[in-house]
Amino acid sequence: MPFTFANVDSRASLVSNSDFYDLNRITQDAISADPMEALADIDALQQVSASLADYQADGSISDAKLGAPAPRPRNSFGVGLNYKDHAEESNMELPESPVVFSKFPSCIAGPFDDVELRATRGDYEAELVVVIGRITRDVSKDDAWSHVAGLTAGQDISDRKLQLGARPPQFGLGKSRDTYGPTGPLLVSADSFANPDDLHLTCEINGDPRQDAKTSDLIFDVPYLVSYLSEVMTLVPGDLIFTGTPSGVGMPDRRFLVPGDVITTTIDGIGAMINICR
Ligand code: ZN
Repeated sequence: MPFTFANVDSRASLVSNSDFYDLNRITQDAISADPMEALADIDALQQVSASLADYQADGSISDAKLGAPAPRPRNSFGVGLNYKDHAEESNMELPESPVVFSKFPSCIAGPFDDVELRATRGDYEAELVVVIGRITRDVSKDDAWSHVAGLTAGQDISDRKLQLGARPPQFGLGKSRDTYGPTGPLLVSADSFANPDDLHLTCEINGDPRQDAKTSDLIFDVPYLVSYLSEVMTLVPGDLIFTGTPSGVGMPDRRFLVPGDVITTTIDGIGAMINICR
């Protein structure tokens, strides 16, 4: 059963027809108000979603204060060079196995939060983000989607100086400054999409189109990444996987972010995040 999940003012909610329903209220405490705890029971989310019409909505999503759908992941992974065209623009060879780094969970921010740049080489990377929904260990690619709570959009904001200034380059710190991980606006279950492996992803800076891709162009797709990571370590509900960015980032032409820049990140069926650089 498809569902759309949101973090409304730090409370777990389901969304239908642009209205939101507070999960703790409509289930009379059966589901926690905490988005992280609510995300750990995707069977319950599916059930409640099927009967949303029986309840009165709490308000319109357009007026709601939205936070990151999974605001406090235990682990948050990034995947580098996962689109052929981005590997080429970065002058890197195509990876034979996933290039995985830690996007430290403290960088996770909401879909409309400001990005505090604190860097002269801040860059944008629009990405599809996977949110894990079950305890996942040694899952096969065929079973991987059933362990995913849903999909959301993300920005893997990157301080290229921190990332590339060290030798050899290090990803973790350069991608983990405070506020460098906006996610949202909604978390949409995989079965809501005709094909969850083929989503349209775009990024605009001040309205100027910079990135435009289909997730079907991922070198390592979502089932591969979930299966691969689950063989290394146990994934838990709320864990995030930033799946990589397509071509069009600022670095090749040195079009780095400056204060006042407006980053608009859109995935069809999920919605648009708007983050302003400070
Ligand atoms: Zn990235």
